[in-house]
Amino acid sequence: MDKVFLAKCPDYDFSLVQQNVVRIFDAFGGAQSILRGRKKVNVKVNLLLPKSPDSAATTHPAVAAAVAKYFVDAGADVTIADSPGGPYNTLTINKVYDACGMREAARLSGASLNMDMGSRIKTFECEGGVRAFDIISPVCDADVVIDVAKMKTHSLAYFTGAVKNLFGTIAGVNKAAYHANLPKVEDFCAMLVDLCRTVAPDFSIIDGIVGMEGDGPSGGSPRHAGVLIGALNPFAADLAAMRYCGLSENNSPVHRRGVELGLVSDIEYIGDDPTPLEVPFVPAMMDKKMWKAVSAIPKVVSRIVGARFRPYPIISDRCVGCGICAQSCPGKALEIKNKKAVLNKKLCIKCYCCHELCRIEAIDLR
Ligand code: SF4
Ligand code: SF4
Repeated sequence: MDKVFLAKCPDYDFSLVQQNVVRIFDAFGGAQSILRGRKKVNVKVNLLLPKSPDSAATTHPAVAAAVAKYFVDAGADVTIADSPGGPYNTLTINKVYDACGMREAARLSGASLNMDMGSRIKTFECEGGVRAFDIISPVCDADVVIDVAKMKTHSLAYFTGAVKNLFGTIAGVNKAAYHANLPKVEDFCAMLVDLCRTVAPDFSIIDGIVGMEGDGPSGGSPRHAGVLIGALNPFAADLAAMRYCGLSENNSPVHRRGVELGLVSDIEYIGDDPTPLEVPFVPAMMDKKMWKAVSAIPKVVSRIVGARFRPYPIISDRCVGCGICAQSCPGKALEIKNKKAVLNKKLCIKCYCCHELCRIEAIDLR
């Protein structure tokens, strides 16, 4: 059984977030028991795309700051980093830091924002052979990685938290190659599990004060849940988060693979009352009415049917033809014609990167 600390935190007031972050780390022995004499800490946040913290698509700056400050105060040299969707360069990262409030997180905490756009190959021997991951330098260079994820439903992976957050350690557009090479959801999620084992974060915290329900990870709706969840084991943190949101862990291919490999079984709660939310999170690709109807179908049936009938992305009239989706499409299924994105269904692998990266939510999944 893995210990998971669930801390009730009603809002993003910095001192309140800080108090709860301290409660979580102290319950696991405090900063020195995580650092164990090591100095260089990477706080790996979720900065998927340049959106305001209010959109709930990215780790809130108050949470990033509170976690970073905890280790700065313990004498560590702390860097906040992520590789967002799209190209990984200083122009993109500066836009993302500005929009996501990370400058304020750095100011409040005394941590630095990563500006090293390099990456290195790390290999991992897994059950099926050797995996190679092109991982961003601040993660490779860190002695300690603290995974600070956002609690969201996900169009491809069902749920994203501590394990899926580490896909942002892959440098820039190289992420697309993993989608292209692993078009089946189960295979892609098995890769995410191996990536998590490669990065091996020292601690995971999930920002669930305001999470995202519906068409996550970027096009869903903010949903207040009022929790911070912390654990040494990222799979256990995700399990607690899914249960708290009223989402079934059996629908998560990442969780199922984690169980298969013996990386997670059950959890022991410490901290506040873990009773799930009365009204569960609405999963991706469902509105509230549809979710009610699907909830009445046996879970095994809905999983099989759902996997078979995953929809194609639909480009709406809101598209402004910026081309971001086409640049990142692993299947090369999108073209910009007459200032609009146009989909070639024959090439589409239904990875939903386009939906994830469209900043104005012009792509629908129904
Ligand atoms: S769908 Fe979105 S990302 Fe793609 S071209 Fe249109 S506006 Fe840009
Ligand atoms: S069109 Fe969208 S869903 Fe289809 S392959 Fe490209 S990025 Fe993936």
